[in-house]
Amino acid sequence: MASKDYYDILGVQKSATQDEIKKAYRQKAKQYHPDSNQGNEKEAEAKFKEVSEAYSVLSDEGKRAQYDRFGADAVNGNGYAGYGAGGYGAGGFDFSGFNGGFDIDLEDIIGSMFGGGFGGYKQAAKNGPVKGSDIRYNMKLTFEEAVFGVKKEISITRNESCATCNGTGSKTGEKVTCDKCGGKGKIQSVQNTIMGTFSTVKVCDKCNGEGKIIKEPCETCAGIGTVRKAKKVEINIPAGIDDGQAIALQGQGDVGKRGGQNGDLFIVVSILPHKIFKRKGRDIYFETKIPFVKAVLGGPIKIPTLEGEMNFDIPEGTQPDTIFTVRNKGVPYRNSRGNLEFKVQIEIPKKLSDKQRELLEQYAISCSEEVTTKKKGFFGK
Ligand SMILES: [Zn+2]
Ligand SMILES: [Zn+2]
Repeated sequence: MASKDYYDILGVQKSATQDEIKKAYRQKAKQYHPDSNQGNEKEAEAKFKEVSEAYSVLSDEGKRAQYDRFGADAVNGNGYAGYGAGGYGAGGFDFSGFNGGFDIDLEDIIGSMFGGGFGGYKQAAKNGPVKGSDIRYNMKLTFEEAVFGVKKEISITRNESCATCNGTGSKTGEKVTCDKCGGKGKIQSVQNTIMGTFSTVKVCDKCNGEGKIIKEPCETCAGIGTVRKAKKVEINIPAGIDDGQAIALQGQGDVGKRGGQNGDLFIVVSILPHKIFKRKGRDIYFETKIPFVKAVLGGPIKIPTLEGEMNFDIPEGTQPDTIFTVRNKGVPYRNSRGNLEFKVQIEIPKKLSDKQRELLEQYAISCSEEVTTKKKGFFGK
């Protein structure tokens, strides 16, 4: 990922002083201000955000130092989300206090300047229905459980609608006018920035824009409307599930807010190793050794399968590393099954009795091979 060059965006030198950075930003902000870009707002907004992002980093000596060392990703927290919490805990970055390239106030200002944008989105998210959170459950399965499927009961803890207040959070159902916004649902605030004074309107965080608040909160849920509950869930693991696959149980996650859908429950499967078999998708695989005489002459051997031992006929003249396939002894899949595959290694005896040695020497002579075994070579001189 190519990092943005914040110095370039503001048009300053890498050695620029804070005064120079501030001056450059003021100039650029004016240039891309919506008042001077009518008919061209979209592009101006993007540019404005870019210069604001650059300024929010370079005007902060701590962020600037990290940016100089690690680039824009380090200060914006981009690109690391996939590693989850703790993944980089011991690393050199300090992400605390960085909530993306913008400070929240800056987002509000840009939102109010350009209309819609960030501000509009945030209002909708606060007022409207919100889907409950998904829950992830990690489940370990034995090799056989994954192959043939299994029924499991698990216990999860999730947010459920409070039964006492029916999820309203109110003890009596009565509501009163919000004292924070005076019933308007919105709060106007004035912010002084280096670009001038901006008036921004935010959704009231006390009543979530409703203008009304609960008179007496429900005692069971303390007015939240949801309670944490342990719940047993029965899971049918289908035959043939593979390592890393997940089963989604729709609506079994946390309860939604303000009429939003429930979250989902994801059962993520990891398969424990088997002492003989390895899994290759629908096929299972193992390696075995056979005596060299068996490889030469052929004959039956016993091989393991998921359902116990079975006989297998090794053909005459089997070479080392030959892979044999037993059809339909692998992982079930719909109405069919994968195969069982195994590779044979040839066991060469390390010790022979005199009688055996003699027989092998006779065999060698019969092949017109020169016999140069230790014994013969030594005594034969
Ligand atoms: Zn309640
Ligand atoms: Zn309010």
